[in-house]
Amino acid sequence: MNTWIILTAAVAVIGGLAGTLYLRKRAQIMAKYKRRPTVDPVPAPVVTPGTTGVATRDFEGKVAIVTGGGTGLGRCIALGLARRGAKVVVASRKIENLQTVADEITAAGGEAMPYAFDVRNYNEVEALLAKTKEKFGRVDILVNNAAGNFYIPAENLTPNGWNAVVGIVLNGTWYCSHVVGNEMIKQRNGQILNIVANYAWSGQPGVVHSCSAKAGVLAMTRTLAVEWGGYGLRVNAFAPGAMVTDNASANLKYDSPNAQEMIKKIIPVGRLTSPEEMAETALFMMSPTAAYMNGEVLTADGGAWLPRGWMDLVDKDGKPK
Ligand code: NAP
Repeated sequence: MNTWIILTAAVAVIGGLAGTLYLRKRAQIMAKYKRRPTVDPVPAPVVTPGTTGVATRDFEGKVAIVTGGGTGLGRCIALGLARRGAKVVVASRKIENLQTVADEITAAGGEAMPYAFDVRNYNEVEALLAKTKEKFGRVDILVNNAAGNFYIPAENLTPNGWNAVVGIVLNGTWYCSHVVGNEMIKQRNGQILNIVANYAWSGQPGVVHSCSAKAGVLAMTRTLAVEWGGYGLRVNAFAPGAMVTDNASANLKYDSPNAQEMIKKIIPVGRLTSPEEMAETALFMMSPTAAYMNGEVLTADGGAWLPRGWMDLVDKDGKPK
């Protein structure tokens, strides 16, 4: 009887020990694979557009058109191109914003022309090209950055709302690409950078119009890269992450009480980005360093669009959450 009790106790102790060891090991493995807890993110670098990079005058002698160049990312790309040597046409509807950016460029010793136009009007796009050639003689770079967007559940989106966004993003990008691309084909030289977003391939509830338009722009990018590569053109797309710009902040309420916690959960690197930081990546894509890049989409979103995986279903001890 005593032997029986001792044996049972021994089995229980060994079993308990083995179980504890197993659970501890499993917890270690799970912790390794789990997304990092919300630590303080690595701070964003302080970036002045156009001051970094290997060769800081690598756009010398180039002429660039930046649509939507009066605000946000477009403004930072325009400033960066100018500080690295390009002559820049900043084009959108509101001449006051464009004039301010052009003044910033000239004050820094660069050359710029503000031009008011509506990207949805093909004739106005043709006039933009004519004015660019009149002022600077040619065009080497087109940045299709102009966009419009607003949050709305898909079931409430009206045909007018759909057409407004698709008209600017998809049609506008095509009109500019067609008009300016034909000029570049004549020159046998030039490049187009289309600004998209990661939801062009992931989708994004609340902005079905913008997702659909950006997906179209991405398909356009790849198509033109192949059709026009032989004419000496390269066509690429850039998908920046969530930037703190006036318009995006107003739409997405970045300053709401829960925003910072949500951002840490949604974006693996734990922070938003800035148009200044994103402009540097866009400039890299257009620079001679990336001369062999064609038909590519480059994403700089802190890993935001990537799946989190099934490991998130369990807690740090490997138990269901
Ligand atoms: P933004 O400040 O709102 O700039 C959009 C620009 O487009 C404005 O300067 C606007 O100028 C111009 N525009 C709008 N409608 C136009 C029209 N019909 N004709 C000509 N120009 C027009 O935007 P952003 O936040 O810098 O975004 C820049 C790009 O990045 C966009 O393509 C956007 O989709 C993309 N993106 C943004 C984010 C983000 O978090 N902000 C994330 C991913 C991708 P006017 O009003 O003067 O016309």
